[in-house]
Amino acid sequence: MTESFSSSDHRALVIGAGLGGLAVAMRLGAKGYCVTVLDRLDRAGGRGSSLSQDGHRFDLGPTIVTVPQLYEDLWAACGRDFHRDVDLRPLSPFYDIRWQDGTRFRASSDTEAMKAEVAKINPSDVKGYARFLRGSQARYKVGFEGLMTLPMHKIWETVKVLPQFARLRADKSIYAYAKSCVKDEKLRQALSFHPLFIGGDPMHVTSMYALVGYLEKEFGVHYAMGGVQAIADAMAGVVREQGGVIRQNAEVDEILIEGGKATGVRLTTGEQIAAPLIVSNADAGHTYTHLLRNHLKRRWTPKRLKKSRWSMGLYVWYFGTKGTAGKWADVGHHTIAMGPRYNGLLDDIFMKGKLPDDMSLYIHRPSLTDPSVAPAGDDTFYVLSPVPHLGWDKAVDWQTEEPIYREKVAAEVEKIMPGFRDHIVTETVFTPETFRDRYLSPNGSGFSVEPRILQSAWFRPHNISEEARGLFLVGAGTHPGAGVPGVVGSADVVSQLVPDAPAQAQRRMAAE
Ligand SMILES: Cc1cc2nc3c(=O)[nH]c(=O)nc-3n(C[C@H](O)[C@H](O)[C@H](O)COP(=O)(O)OP(=O)(O)OC[C@H]3O[C@@H](n4cnc5c(N)ncnc54)[C@H](O)[C@@H]3O)c2cc1C
Repeated sequence: MTESFSSSDHRALVIGAGLGGLAVAMRLGAKGYCVTVLDRLDRAGGRGSSLSQDGHRFDLGPTIVTVPQLYEDLWAACGRDFHRDVDLRPLSPFYDIRWQDGTRFRASSDTEAMKAEVAKINPSDVKGYARFLRGSQARYKVGFEGLMTLPMHKIWETVKVLPQFARLRADKSIYAYAKSCVKDEKLRQALSFHPLFIGGDPMHVTSMYALVGYLEKEFGVHYAMGGVQAIADAMAGVVREQGGVIRQNAEVDEILIEGGKATGVRLTTGEQIAAPLIVSNADAGHTYTHLLRNHLKRRWTPKRLKKSRWSMGLYVWYFGTKGTAGKWADVGHHTIAMGPRYNGLLDDIFMKGKLPDDMSLYIHRPSLTDPSVAPAGDDTFYVLSPVPHLGWDKAVDWQTEEPIYREKVAAEVEKIMPGFRDHIVTETVFTPETFRDRYLSPNGSGFSVEPRILQSAWFRPHNISEEARGLFLVGAGTHPGAGVPGVVGSADVVSQLVPDAPAQAQRRMAAE
């Protein structure tokens, strides 16, 4: 696995302190590398960081923590116990899905309770739901256990799994798969919306993503006390204890290449830092189009990246409300408010690049679980609406559109939390333009390259770059893809592709 990189130098640079970058820094530290992480923002975590404002802490991105064993494994690889560093709390129910006619579906790990939720909507779909779950488990075995942390830069690795993919009808979309199991449209939505959490269009991403249904039920949906920022901070703590350095407010302008080898980076300040091993946690698109702009690309040309399908953009409204603890008592920690259209809405966003008037919303209310997010008696919320990315010919001009769109979002939230605006004491909004400017996301997309089947595994930007020796990629834009489990998995893949640092290798040999 490690044939393509070797060096007698033990310095490594990681560009980006997102969760993928921090995870790979931990793994490289455990392999004996002297790691420096460089990030343009003022705190670690990337999309998984938080913003504190007027006594409220806003978790900016991920809120749903699944598969805790991935973090346990990561910490164990560094000789640490994850649960000593992070306080994870299981949530029940996982989330509450609401439709406009008042129908609700509460997801949880209890199979009988889930069947009762299905029966409440359509009793004749209970059998089909059980079939969906069995299919979800089979997809988990192949798609998650089999592929998630397997290097996929050799086409043979992808070819090998094709028979299993064919057997599981990976060519079908997750929506088509849900439709083949249950008759009720609401249940089809409840069983197929999950890819939206990682930037995929349920009408087009592979049915392999049905694995999320099993994964949630089996391993739970959790909340990290302190938000995902607490996980990022704990990761940064491990990196520092390993002797690594994390430099915030340090933006890389270029990856330096000599004779086909990565030799270091130049920051926007002009400072150069040398290292023979570089892992980019910057978006794969930004890495190839900007950081390697002066280097002729073999595969990841700007043209190819432009032709890729990018995940949707996000409109996120973060707000703190005063004196609302106990108010809107039926609004839990995670609420998904389905709009009047599903297929049509997705088509507008993903296929036409059109900002629709209607919307489906995700409402996050962490103050119900974590008192540290808001002053006593107050609440902290975020409301998220999927919107088109900025790469369309007629991209939305958010400078003009934002106040208009905010009113439309407010009208929907008002139906669920009447009078909420009167209580807002602090707020901030992220649009796709914020994602473009803050995270340097191509097209301002929320989750990098869309996880379609022909943009997954070997087809996705590889974890080991074909453009320069000693250059690796970690994070949402590479294999296996977006989502916290995905980017933590990508760090595992990179660490399999990189040999131990020279001194560590000698120690290991001496011990054997
Ligand atoms: C609103 C939202 C909600 C989400 N909800 C969930 C969820 O509930 N569960 C889940 O599992 N996933 C969720 N996700 C997805 C998940 O957060 C991301 O896929 C994941 O955090 C991406 O991690 P990353 O390491 O790839 O990249 P990022 O978090 O984007 O980190 C990349 C880092 O690189 C830095 N950087 C970029 N370019 C440079 C440069 N040139 N020089 C220096 N630094 C640079 C950036 O500043 C950034 O800090 C959500 C995402 C969003 C946006």
